[in-house]
Amino acid sequence: MFDVLIVGGGLAGLVNAIRLGRQGFQVAVFEQNTYPFHRVCGEYISNETLSFFRSDLKINPFDFGAIPITHFKLTSPTGNFLEMRLDLGGFGISRFTLDNILYETAQEHGVTFFTGTRIVEVGKANEIYFVKTNKSKKYNSKFIIGTFGKRSELDKKLQRSFFRKRSPYVAVKYHIRTNLHPDNQIALHNFADGYCGISRIEDDKFCFCYLTSRKNLRAAGNIQNLESQILYRNPFLRKLFTESEFLHDKPKVINEISFAPKTQHEQGILMCGDSAGMITPLCGNGMSIAIHSAKILSDILPNFLEGNLSEKEVSQNYTKEWRKVFAHRLQFGRTIQQFFGHPLLSEILIGSAKKIPPFARLLVRQSHGNPF
Ligand SMILES: Cc1cc2nc3c(=O)[nH]c(=O)nc-3n(C[C@H](O)[C@H](O)[C@H](O)COP(=O)(O)OP(=O)(O)OC[C@H]3O[C@@H](n4cnc5c(N)ncnc54)[C@H](O)[C@@H]3O)c2cc1C
Repeated sequence: MFDVLIVGGGLAGLVNAIRLGRQGFQVAVFEQNTYPFHRVCGEYISNETLSFFRSDLKINPFDFGAIPITHFKLTSPTGNFLEMRLDLGGFGISRFTLDNILYETAQEHGVTFFTGTRIVEVGKANEIYFVKTNKSKKYNSKFIIGTFGKRSELDKKLQRSFFRKRSPYVAVKYHIRTNLHPDNQIALHNFADGYCGISRIEDDKFCFCYLTSRKNLRAAGNIQNLESQILYRNPFLRKLFTESEFLHDKPKVINEISFAPKTQHEQGILMCGDSAGMITPLCGNGMSIAIHSAKILSDILPNFLEGNLSEKEVSQNYTKEWRKVFAHRLQFGRTIQQFFGHPLLSEILIGSAKKIPPFARLLVRQSHGNPF
């Protein structure tokens, strides 16, 4: 019997685990992969998380090779571009490294891990929550946190409404070495029906990651054709693809990515990170939202575990706070996503932002939050 079972050991799951574990609660995390492992992610984290990393988690990402990022570049499929300084900025570090640091920190705080273990069922019987694993084991707890990411079989089992619609996006990620891109800049290069981000991470590497529609990939036939026929039309991307060193044999690819609104609780389980709602990657803010939402939840949940609030009150307080802090940003991300990957609209967006710099600053600010 645990106090809390956390399903999914990404950023949201690990931050919840650290903050509840260090308060002495019995916490277990179930993660289907084994740390350390690579994920599809742009690996740029907004500085709104920096003071939280340092003062709350006692982790300084720069001790692990994170690289400061202070500038932004946006290009259109024809090569028109805009460059600007970022007000808040961020840093680059691979998820391979970052998630592993958090995993080790959680272990130091007494959290139990079941890695290489997939949860196939979650539920509640006789006032006790339970999870069942793919290894036919069952574990009980007073509470379950759902941090299983953008889309999981568990969403289907819980009959979450967003799961009924197919998700039209696929994403591809590489790590590369190149001297074509400055260390302190994150760039978003548009191409027909998609966009590709590039920014520095540790060990002289760059994360090079793009999002496009399944339709685009299907029309091209395969990833290689998609890149050479569509992405190469953007002159910046052509140069990066043809003149950089690619560090892995093949890219990491995911599909079925959805930015549809989600609920923050389902059958008593509170959702956190992408499980509660995913912001479009062009905002470069999903990781901060995962971390921030975990802070909010792990601040509220001890009230239930210590008997000061009912389960219903905890759920209401968390949902209210989540919506207040994140709902606007997710909606903004969905709106602005329509401009990206559309050749004419992205051209208009870059033209207007170049002519009116405060407009560009406003757009970046809308997608970002404040330090927490
Ligand atoms: C193409 C792309 C680029 C992005 N770029 C950026 C960026 O540059 N900056 C940024 O801030 N954000 C970015 N994001 C968003 C960011 O990656 C996510 O918002 C963030 O990873 C969310 O963290 P999480 O903990 O909620 O989920 P995740 O990190 O996805 O973790 C969920 C975990 O749950 C596990 N899991 C799922 N189901 C089960 C199960 N049944 N049993 C056990 N384990 C399970 C998974 O294996 C996974 O490890 C990007 C996203 C995409 C798709």
